[in-house]
Amino acid sequence: MPEGLLPTLTLALVLATQRMAKRNVLIRYLPSVETLGSTTVICTDKTGTLTQNHMMVRRLYLGQSFHSSAGERDELGVADLYRPFFLTARMCHDLKESESHGKLAFLGDPMEVALVEMALRFIPGIPVYRRLTEIPFDADRKRLSTLNESPQGPVLYCKGAPESVLPLCQHVLIDGKIQSLGTEARERIVHAQDEMANQGLRVLAFAYRKLFEGHERERLEEDLILAGLVGLEDPPRPEVPEALRKCQEAGIKVIMVTGDHPRTAMAIAREIGLVKSDSPTIITGEQLRRFSDIQLQLALDAQEVIFARVVADQKMRIVGALRNKNQIVAVTGDGVNDAPALKAAHIGIAMGIAGTDVAKEAADMVLLDDNFASIVNAVEEGRAVFENIRKFLTYVLVHNVAELIPYLGFLLFKIPLALTPIQALSIDMGSDTLAALGLGVERPDPQIMRRPPRPRGERLMNWPLAFRAYLFLGLIEAATAMAAFFFVLNRAGWKYGQTLVAQDPMYLQATTACLSAIILMQIVNVFLCRSDMRSVFATGILGNSLILVGVMSEIAMLLLINYTYWGNALLGTQPIGEAVWGFVIPFGIAMFILEELRKWLARRRLLHPSS
Ligand code: ADP
Ligand code: MG
Repeated sequence: MPEGLLPTLTLALVLATQRMAKRNVLIRYLPSVETLGSTTVICTDKTGTLTQNHMMVRRLYLGQSFHSSAGERDELGVADLYRPFFLTARMCHDLKESESHGKLAFLGDPMEVALVEMALRFIPGIPVYRRLTEIPFDADRKRLSTLNESPQGPVLYCKGAPESVLPLCQHVLIDGKIQSLGTEARERIVHAQDEMANQGLRVLAFAYRKLFEGHERERLEEDLILAGLVGLEDPPRPEVPEALRKCQEAGIKVIMVTGDHPRTAMAIAREIGLVKSDSPTIITGEQLRRFSDIQLQLALDAQEVIFARVVADQKMRIVGALRNKNQIVAVTGDGVNDAPALKAAHIGIAMGIAGTDVAKEAADMVLLDDNFASIVNAVEEGRAVFENIRKFLTYVLVHNVAELIPYLGFLLFKIPLALTPIQALSIDMGSDTLAALGLGVERPDPQIMRRPPRPRGERLMNWPLAFRAYLFLGLIEAATAMAAFFFVLNRAGWKYGQTLVAQDPMYLQATTACLSAIILMQIVNVFLCRSDMRSVFATGILGNSLILVGVMSEIAMLLLINYTYWGNALLGTQPIGEAVWGFVIPFGIAMFILEELRKWLARRRLLHPSS
């Protein structure tokens, strides 16, 4: 085990988390950096993640017709005819209100802010009645109700998904009159909802009810009067289509999991390019409830899958089914109810802005900007980390072979020990560390998101890596080091079988030649290790300042061990002459050429697999 490996590994991961933080991703659990890179499926929320969560009221459906949401030129007088509609918008919410310089400010869900502002546009001085109680919103109920004390007595205001609110309504408000809500009227309303949802609008229904004394809390939300529908627009985030394209190239499947209406979900999915075919699979929470696990797994095979109107525990089921299909699953969540799904996924992703503390606590990473594109950036970094670990692993293993051979020679062939333990340690813990770290922070290869995710169970150390590090580069470097050792001994007239005294200057010089050769070869090697396929002419020499600092430290180390008193004393070395340098350098050039040749062959084999 190379001693320098563990600190380098940890540092590489830590530096990766720092790079990710700059791209708005906070890693809470260090090893998840590496898991991220193997992600095969991302289950993502819609609202706020794929979209901006900048809600704007676009259309109103009042009585039997659509209205604009502007509110300025209210020629038809809808503000009067549908006053309860605007009262609901004004009072039925969970916002925090504050007043500064005579202007009201609202803090909370952007959708509710948009609704309050709409109400204020239509009726500037709209009253606010004291709230008596509230039945809170949750993703399962999909509605929120408040009970307020109006001058005429308590009134219940309710807003929520039409599927959730409409069944509670017995009456409907039409042009200021309350009429009973028949089948035909219901159909018209559902039709209006569909029309808005097809445009990608999020549709809410508003309803209300006057109450008399002695109501029971359990029976508040019944016998409601439908006041109208509202359609809100939430534009997609501009970065999302590009991020989705990246996912597709990278072989990562993206599944939208939303609490919103299937039609709205579909319209948005089309707009951002998540769905391209004519017949994507849309599964609603209701259908999902009737699905067996096998059915769910089969449904997940489809190219394009969207889940709509799901509740939190169903997210958990989707994650479970994907895991059973051997997928590496990343899932986003914001609510308290999302915590189990975040825990169950390989990578739980909480929203930094809209997320609850519970969700963040359960997550492996937090998206500071709630943006889907940041997830894709994080996957890219995760993939780069895995490749970078392989790069410095190769680098470190190569010198390990060069360190090992002197000992094998010593034990098996009675050759004087070419490298003393302290000298070996000076490479592991000294000269190589900065350069290895430099490889650990290499920028992602431009092709990295054009490849499929790495197969599950693929090890860091695979056969090609072991072959390249141990049998190819390692042996070349070891041969160079031993050759340098014998070069010095031979010039001094040493013959095989002759024993050497530990303090013999000739012997000290020979070990110095061996050590210097390894360090010199590692200077060449660090550039070879920047890619296992691409030529040095493609990866370049500059471009990674930490590698350059590492190379500088290796040159300093060479000078230190050769030409300083303290270096000589500490490592038991003696300066080597120009002849030795002249002998070793061609080996460095040879290793460079041989590795370029190997890479060229490897690239050719990738292009023409048969030959
Ligand atoms: P999403 O996946 O789009 O974030 P949610 O689970 O937040 O979905 O919401 C699901 C549905 O619940 C929405 O489509 C909407 O109809 C309704 N809803 C969301 N927020 C509120 C709210 N504050 N008050 C009433 N209803 C809401
Ligand atoms: Mg939501």
